[in-house]
Amino acid sequence: MTFATLGLIEPLLRALETLGYQTPTPVQAQAIPAVLAGRDLMAAAQTGTGKTAGFAVPLLQLLTMEGPKVTANSVRALILCPTRELAEQVHASVAEYAQHLPLTTYAVYGGVSINPQMMKLRKGVDVLVATPGRLIDLFRQNALKLNQLQTLVLDEADRMLDLGFSEELANIYRMLPKKRQTLLFSATFSDEIRLLAGQMLIDPLTVEVSPRNVAANTVKQWVVPVDKKRKAELFVHLMRKGRWKQVLVFAKTRNGVDALVEKLQGLGINADGIHGDKPQATRQRALDRFKASEVQILVATDVAARGLDIEDLPLVVNFDLPIVAEDYIHRIGRTGRAGNTGEAISLVCADEVNMLSAIEMLTRQTLTRHMEQDFEPEHRVPDTDSSGQVVKKPKKPKKPKTSGGGKRNLGKWVESSEVSVAEPSLKPVRKVPVFNTGPRKKK
Ligand code: AMP
Repeated sequence: MTFATLGLIEPLLRALETLGYQTPTPVQAQAIPAVLAGRDLMAAAQTGTGKTAGFAVPLLQLLTMEGPKVTANSVRALILCPTRELAEQVHASVAEYAQHLPLTTYAVYGGVSINPQMMKLRKGVDVLVATPGRLIDLFRQNALKLNQLQTLVLDEADRMLDLGFSEELANIYRMLPKKRQTLLFSATFSDEIRLLAGQMLIDPLTVEVSPRNVAANTVKQWVVPVDKKRKAELFVHLMRKGRWKQVLVFAKTRNGVDALVEKLQGLGINADGIHGDKPQATRQRALDRFKASEVQILVATDVAARGLDIEDLPLVVNFDLPIVAEDYIHRIGRTGRAGNTGEAISLVCADEVNMLSAIEMLTRQTLTRHMEQDFEPEHRVPDTDSSGQVVKKPKKPKKPKTSGGGKRNLGKWVESSEVSVAEPSLKPVRKVPVFNTGPRKKK
């Protein structure tokens, strides 16, 4: 299959060719004809599947072929994104796809002055990419009208809800013309998303290119149990041991990002961080330097990392597990793209066991655990599995202190052959792990 057989017009084919897109990805193959036919779409496609071109390319074609010229302060297509970074990213792609078309494109988001955005909107824009909050501000200040809107795209809709934009979405919904085409993209499909889709979409075509809520299987995922206070030390150890070159690291909080970056920089490691407290320009610069390999380690919070499009990222490290399990899928979606193999390592402490369990349940897999020598946790991480069960410790048998306590409790995760080098003596345990077994002696 080629893009030409999907019925795309020549200026778009030329743009795609320049970008080196030879064949449509599965989501593009399904979405492009459906959007061209005017259908509403509900697409389950994670990041890295080519979803942006899947909605943007046919949308641009429709705008070129149909509808009146854009009038003052109006937009003809609106793409809503959860974060500024994603809005920038999507806009950059849209502008590339539209390079040979007589259409105007623009992106608006918060955190920067609203005035230049109001000025820019005066003449009207064919395709506007926006974050929900800033879109509403512009609308309320009469800088934006939506009566010409032909197509609405909700990109990463699950993420918009996670970030608490449901009220904004409800407000925007009330601002929209009834007659329009709506395309909803989401990496995961919770009941909340289905509810939103029920309100916003009419007879949508469902496109599902990866199994529901399952992370890309080209990503090798594993967990290293460790005590919380030793995470940074373990990270540096693994980095040196694995000779990591370019790593995207996720931390839970802004303070966590800053603390890790400071620690790494203190050790002479080339690291930078991005989070919501940093100005947009600083974030963009850090990202550009990371993409250009001028920064080796980029530490980010989930929000700031949203929309990062870095090709061939070999490794993602979860310094902390995400509070929302779906974010795990987004995070590891940064690696293993377009069929490349990638690796995702999570440093997990005992406090995070419930998050680990939620992730395993969502992704329907039990993550392989590797115990790193000399980093075995004192506070062991209870066993978990994809049924969502956390195997609680048995009733306290009065301080059963043993050396290397975590090792014997690896239980069934030690099935993997990958572990054998580091832990040659470990035996797999198939059933729900039994604690306090083995030749342990009370001290
Ligand atoms: P997305 O899932 O939209 O974030 O796209 C992921 C990456 O794949 C981006 O770098 C796109 O430029 C690239 N891409 C999208 N479609 C194709 C295609 N048909 N062939 C090659 N690369 C593509």
